[in-house]
Amino acid sequence: MTEYKKTIGIEVHCELKTNTKMFSTSLNGYQTIANKNICAIDLGYPGTLPIVNKYAVELALKAAILLNCKINRTMHFDRKNYFYPDLPKGYQITQARTPIGVNGYVEIEIDGKTKKIGIHDIHIEEDTAKSIHKEDKSYLDFNRAGVPLIEIVTEPDMKSSSEAMAYLEKLKEILYYADISDCKMEEGSMRCDVNVSISKTEKLGVRTETKNIGSISSVGLAINEEAKRQEEVLENGGSIKEETRRYSELENKTILMRVKETGNDYRYFPEADIPYLTLTEEYIEKVKNDIPIMPNERRKIYKKHEISEINIEKIIQDKTISDYLLNFDDINLKIASNLLLGDIKAYLNKENKKLSDTKLTIEKFKTVVNKLDKGEIPNKVFKDILANLLETEKTFDEIVKDNNIETISDTKALLEIVNNILNNNEPSIIEYKNGHDRILKFLMGQIMKETKGSANPSLVNKILLEEISKR
Ligand code: ADP
Ligand code: MG
Repeated sequence: MTEYKKTIGIEVHCELKTNTKMFSTSLNGYQTIANKNICAIDLGYPGTLPIVNKYAVELALKAAILLNCKINRTMHFDRKNYFYPDLPKGYQITQARTPIGVNGYVEIEIDGKTKKIGIHDIHIEEDTAKSIHKEDKSYLDFNRAGVPLIEIVTEPDMKSSSEAMAYLEKLKEILYYADISDCKMEEGSMRCDVNVSISKTEKLGVRTETKNIGSISSVGLAINEEAKRQEEVLENGGSIKEETRRYSELENKTILMRVKETGNDYRYFPEADIPYLTLTEEYIEKVKNDIPIMPNERRKIYKKHEISEINIEKIIQDKTISDYLLNFDDINLKIASNLLLGDIKAYLNKENKKLSDTKLTIEKFKTVVNKLDKGEIPNKVFKDILANLLETEKTFDEIVKDNNIETISDTKALLEIVNNILNNNEPSIIEYKNGHDRILKFLMGQIMKETKGSANPSLVNKILLEEISKR
């Protein structure tokens, strides 16, 4: 029996990180009081006129560039007409005919290979108000009305839930790193609708659309459950209808919301209240040049510094660490990232602080990393002075001095300790000379123990080798 193959296309809505709304000067941001960030434009009062938020266009353009889209140099807005209480104008301003970007792609890694997921288009639109249904009443909160959105529509290019999840992770990473959107699915600043169909042939099956799923892992579950449901319907002689469904995490299944009436007619027509926008080459170039170093480029840099794959992903997951590392181009990034991901992160978590709350200046951090790199201070010293480094304005040298922290660099003292250890470990010296290099580590360990970790490791290493060769 031939298996059914899945086909998936995804529509993502992302709130843009602007200060104000798409077409008004109302604030766009977190607000606990309902209907606070509103004005006559957001409420669709007759006689009001929309004014395009230039920064929103810039963010959308940035997204279009990063998604490898062809940019529409001349674009305009359209009215999508429909009636619903969360949309008092009776139409949503969107871009139907000239989306800012078309024909792009996102590269994902799947089973060790890269695959391009086609982007059909990315367009700018305004969000609607939020309806809240409580008991037998409905409420409207217009804080969200007019919030700038981009909608990113893929081609039906994904073949499995893993590809869909990889696509969403990648998309989120791009939009987040370029400061285009917060991309918080749990807070609704990133929302996705998943179109799923199954077929045994090349011809695509009829699809359903599952809306507003709460997390990327739920997207994976929803796709698999929806495909399973469709297969059961088809195997029982039924047919799939174009319908809108939602995913219930609790029951792990998709639930019918409404059947799509044939051909929704939104009577799209040009928004006559907004003039055509022209994106000049200079402007596009400027926006392109403002794009920060993106995660894939950063991964390459980390790889060159021999940071492990696991740590590379940990750094990328924590943008503050990744951004902090951008301050340095001539230090050992492997050591630096180990400190940041290890002791420093643990400290910050414990104290409930952010890196920017600390007094760890770039200069101070550089000094410490370089000293560790050259073996001039043992790791233990770093641990001892960590709190001082992060909490005081003192330089590294001042901290070491003020706390009487000794890094034994006195050759004579070390020489004595090394020889004592060697005298007590004669069999080990023979083993070492017979080619067991590991023994050196053991001897180093003994010396570090003796000095309570305060000896200068590179100096110890040097003396140890010299003294062994004399025996
Ligand atoms: P609508 O206008 O109803 O939103 P679109 O043609 O814009 O429909 O497609 C919406 C999404 O559905 C796109 O991401 C597209 O790739 C996806 N899609 C279209 N046909 C199929 C199909 N047969 N199976 C799965 N996804 C599909
Ligand atoms: Mg759609």
